[in-house]
Amino acid sequence: KTNEVSRVMGAMRSQTPQPRNFTRGMQTVTLIPGDGIGPEISSAVVKIFEAAKAPIQWEERNVTAIKGPGGKWMIPPEAKESMDRCKIGLKGPLKTPIAAGHPSMNLLLRKTFDLYANVRPCVSIEGYKTPYTDVNLVTIRENTEGEYSGIEHLIVDGVVQSIKLITEDASRRIAEYAFEYARNNNRNSVTAVHKANIMRMSDGLFLRKCREVAENFKDIKFTEMYLDTVCLNMVQDPSKFDVLVMPNLYGDILSDLCAGLIGGLGVTPSGNIGANGVAIFESVHGTAPDIAGLDLANPTALLLSAVMMLRHMGLHGYAQKIESACFDTIRDKKVLTGDLGGNSKCSDFTSEICRRV
Ligand code: NAD
Repeated sequence: KTNEVSRVMGAMRSQTPQPRNFTRGMQTVTLIPGDGIGPEISSAVVKIFEAAKAPIQWEERNVTAIKGPGGKWMIPPEAKESMDRCKIGLKGPLKTPIAAGHPSMNLLLRKTFDLYANVRPCVSIEGYKTPYTDVNLVTIRENTEGEYSGIEHLIVDGVVQSIKLITEDASRRIAEYAFEYARNNNRNSVTAVHKANIMRMSDGLFLRKCREVAENFKDIKFTEMYLDTVCLNMVQDPSKFDVLVMPNLYGDILSDLCAGLIGGLGVTPSGNIGANGVAIFESVHGTAPDIAGLDLANPTALLLSAVMMLRHMGLHGYAQKIESACFDTIRDKKVLTGDLGGNSKCSDFTSEICRRV
């Protein structure tokens, strides 16, 4: 247990943030098309970026797990080198191997680049019918520890123990990221989501760090709320929420709930922010093997993730242009993929967005 704690803490401290400076001119981004529908939706994004004349050139890398020195699973060196250099990646879905002997690629990417913050903006899309029309919130999930630290033991037959690991450093950096995000994205408030009434030490530490960080961001309103209260209020009136920051497990669940409020994973973008200035943006749905290769996939989630990427790079004008073209296409309802209620192909939906950028 002590070794595991030292490993997590050491990995966090060894990374000095070295964000890339995104100045004017063409920027290179690593593109990981992924499996299943991944190549189709990635090529849709590339086409729409071309139509919008976005100053992005793509460096395509495939990722499959390979065995490195000492038999450790790793991502291919060409993909790692590209990400280390470009700092920014766009990723399609990757299939998770069942009983293949290696960990999921998503997990390997998260560990390789210490992707500590998972960010999901959930904004109602006009014209796309959902139970709510006024959702406009962002979930920020601590992505490296909590119940997902992988520290589990068999105590005796029939009794197992899973450790929830919460550290001061990880709690502070996710809180700082949440407040910085709020400030940089014109948002007014940050709510820390917790259960410090029950998990007094672990969530108590997380909450204390959020309170301390809040002191340095007087321009952003800080509130605290129990996870169960958030769930209740979220389904009653999601418009009450702005930025929410929370430990790993709560974020995993709450972020999917929030995606459901705006129409599901097919329209929800996501970004993973790393300690070393690396950030990978991805659609959160899977590889959709049932429709792969049939030109039926909806590229919206990956496209909106790419829009998030542009905002992260400071390319707000292009982000706005592409996002509006996508939302206009959905509002217009004439050319929609099946999951959005239409009967058009992925390629027709893509062409319609290209026409509007
Ligand atoms: P899935 O998201 O791939 O599919 C669920 C349903 O949603 C299917 O009917 C599918 O056709 C539909 N769907 C998903 N994305 C769509 C899109 N963009 N457009 C239209 N329809 C879409 O979930 P699953 O079947 O449970 O998982 C399939 C594979 O994907 C598994 O190997 C799983 O491990 C992997 N997966 C990867 C990620 C990721 O890389 N981030 C996330 C989830 C699942």
